[in-house]
Amino acid sequence: MKHKKHMGKSVAALALALVLLTGQVLPVLAVTWADVNDLKDDASALNSQKAQLESKLEELADDKSKALERRELLDQKIGVLVTQINNAQQQISDYDTLIDQTQAELEEAEAKEAEQYDLFCRRVRAMEEDGGKLSYWSVLFNATSFTDLLTRLSDANEVMEADQQVIDELEQLQAEIEEKKSNLETARTETVTLKNNLDSQKAELDQERAEANALAQEIESNAAEYQSTLDAIEAEEEAIQKKIVQLSQQLAAQNGGSSSSAALGGYIWPVSSRKINSPFGPRNTGIAGASTNHKGVDIGGVYYSSQVHAAKAGTVIVSQYSSSYGNYVVISHGSGNTTLYAHMSSRSVSVGQTVAQGAVIGITGSTGISSGPHLHFEITENGVRVNPLNYLTGYIRNW
Ligand SMILES: [Zn+2]
Repeated sequence: MKHKKHMGKSVAALALALVLLTGQVLPVLAVTWADVNDLKDDASALNSQKAQLESKLEELADDKSKALERRELLDQKIGVLVTQINNAQQQISDYDTLIDQTQAELEEAEAKEAEQYDLFCRRVRAMEEDGGKLSYWSVLFNATSFTDLLTRLSDANEVMEADQQVIDELEQLQAEIEEKKSNLETARTETVTLKNNLDSQKAELDQERAEANALAQEIESNAAEYQSTLDAIEAEEEAIQKKIVQLSQQLAAQNGGSSSSAALGGYIWPVSSRKINSPFGPRNTGIAGASTNHKGVDIGGVYYSSQVHAAKAGTVIVSQYSSSYGNYVVISHGSGNTTLYAHMSSRSVSVGQTVAQGAVIGITGSTGISSGPHLHFEITENGVRVNPLNYLTGYIRNW
């Protein structure tokens, strides 16, 4: 890393000078503004990498919610289809029952018809064996007169007509039953076709649903991957933050200041607005299990023209632009106690400058990774960023 190389060189040179002057190796404290600025450049590069990952996470959250929405819609469609399929299946089963019943009726009618015909045949045979009183042949050969013949024929026809009528009725019934059965079979075939169609629609939806599910899962695992990279960057940022604090302490000591703990607290509001748009701490990225840790507070209710004031007297140790913080300033209040002001439209202080509490250090804006004008404000105490709302009283909750 760039700053290690740089430090190594200057520290080695200073150590050598000390050895030459005093003849003994002393603990090295000396650092330069360049060391601090190199670290700040690294932090800035990390910040921009982090911002990219965060925006990727947001995109993924968006994609994932779309995939989940799609999966939910498919689930609903599948639910409707399953109901339709069950309905068709029930219809088919009802048709089967009706067809079975009709088949039984048909068989019964056929049996009756056969029985009736059999009865008729036996009667005619019996009549013939009986001396043929009523058979056609006996009617013709045994008639004693024409009148007798007509009477005999009429009697024989009546017998035959009665039988024939029963048989005709049975045949009619059989035809009706057969038509009913055929209609039922047609309806059943149509229902089976409908059900097959529904089954194939469901198979397609199942496939689509599996794809939407796989996509949602893939997005989830990508999010987890991005999150772990983000965590690593945050950890590295933390380490750099510690070094910056350490360097600012050493710098304070070199400049004749005290390296003992500064008096903490005593901050004033850096802008006139009291609106907090985003608090300190974990922030949800919209993806389960993925979050980022907000290291400051976002003060809203400002425009592109509000003055930013030093929250506490100190020395400016950073005044630069970074891709994520935009124009930002860091003021050291001694021994690991700093305040940071970000996303300003302009800065009006430079590194090394001492500022009084309340001094104007810049103008609010929306530079860097920012969705609108606000002041991102951080307080570091003993090398750790703390919640500014522990000190800034009277804030208005706007999140
Ligand atoms: Zn912020």
